Formats: sequence, C-alpha cells, structure tokens
Amino acid sequence: MKKTIVFATNNPHKAKEVEQILGGGYEVKTLRDIDCLEDIEETEDSLEGNALLKARYVKEKYGYDCFSEDTGLEVEALDGAPGVHTARYASESRDPDANIALLLKNLEGKPHRRARFRTIIALLTGDRELLLEGICEGAIAREKSGTSGFGYDPVFVPEGYDRTFAELGDEVKNRISHRAKATEKLVAALGG
Ligand code: IMP
Repeated sequence: MKKTIVFATNNPHKAKEVEQILGGGYEVKTLRDIDCLEDIEETEDSLEGNALLKARYVKEKYGYDCFSEDTGLEVEALDGAPGVHTARYASESRDPDANIALLLKNLEGKPHRRARFRTIIALLTGDRELLLEGICEGAIAREKSGTSGFGYDPVFVPEGYDRTFAELGDEVKNRISHRAKATEKLVAALGG
C-alpha cells in the first residue's frame, strides 16, 4: 500500500520532481490537496528556518505529518547571493526571467562563476523534526539555454556536464540535483 505524505508546497514543479524521485511507493499530497490555500510567508533568514517554518505551520494547523523544502542558489563570486533571497532576487514578483537577467548582469565580466544549489528539507513526523540537506555544485552559464525544468535551470550547469539543467532534462536532473540528494535522505528517514 502507498504511504501518504504531505509536501508543504504549492510549486507544481517541485512536487513533480519529488514525486518522480520518491517513486511509486508514496502518494504525495500538496497544500492544495489538503485545502491549505494561504500563502505561508517565508520570513526567516536561512533556508533551514524557512523550511521548518512551513512544515511547522502545516503540522500545527492541519495536523498532518509533512515535509517542506527551501532551496537557494549560492554564487561564490557574489558572496553566496542570492541564497535565501533566490526566489525574489530581482523583485517581489518572483519572475524567473527577471531573476536570471539580474544574475547574469551581476556576473558580467566575472570569470569565476562557480555556484551551488542547496536544498533543505524539513521533515516533521510525530514529534520528530529532521533537517536534510542536498547540494549540487556547478557554475552559472553566460547565457540561457534549454527549456526543461524551472527557475534558474536555464543558466545552471551542474559539475561534470557542459549543458544546463534545462538542456539536460528531467531524467538527468532528478538523478543528480540538490533536490534529488535531499529527497534520497528523506526516503531513508521515512524508512525506505
Ligand atoms: P523556494 O525554495 O520556493 O523559495 O525557491 C527559491 C528559488 O529558487 C525560486 O526562484 C526557484 O525558482 C529557484 N529554484 C528552486 N529550485 C530550483 C531548481 O531546482 N532549479 C532552478 N531553480 C530553482
């Protein structure tokens, strides 16, 4: 029988990726599926803090065991920015094209383009709280390429590859990504 777990997100891209990585053994419900329609504001100044905040909100208000995740892009030449501000880097509208345009502008003329995605999953089951981390090292491309994925995928080239996540597609991304690594730890924490 499938185990049901609530993923505290309304981002359909993230839900799809996590469901693909978890495989057939789990039914993943999102916030919409449990009628949680409010926007849970991410007010903390760390990925860990925001992941916990979202999961605690759902557990306390709706009573479900659940997990949430927060992801940041950390660019070395920008001292780790955009980091916790990744979603709203260019403006409050969270527009991915504007975010990418600002990132490429801020890296103009900089040869050093190393970056990493860092995902934190907060898992709340019973009275247990766990933080699980997944990191994907890579570099920022000089221009956008590819149409797969979401967010910064058209400019992120994972280490060991010469194409962006958006060119490599779901199958490769879901094997090597930050979210894949954190989700593998989630599977282990849920008991396989
Ligand atoms: P949040 O975790 O929903 O706050 O998302 C943070 C930001 O990172 C958003 O702008 C997302 O588009 C971006 N982001 C999160 N995960 C990925 C990813 O796997 N690829 C590209 N961008 C991502």
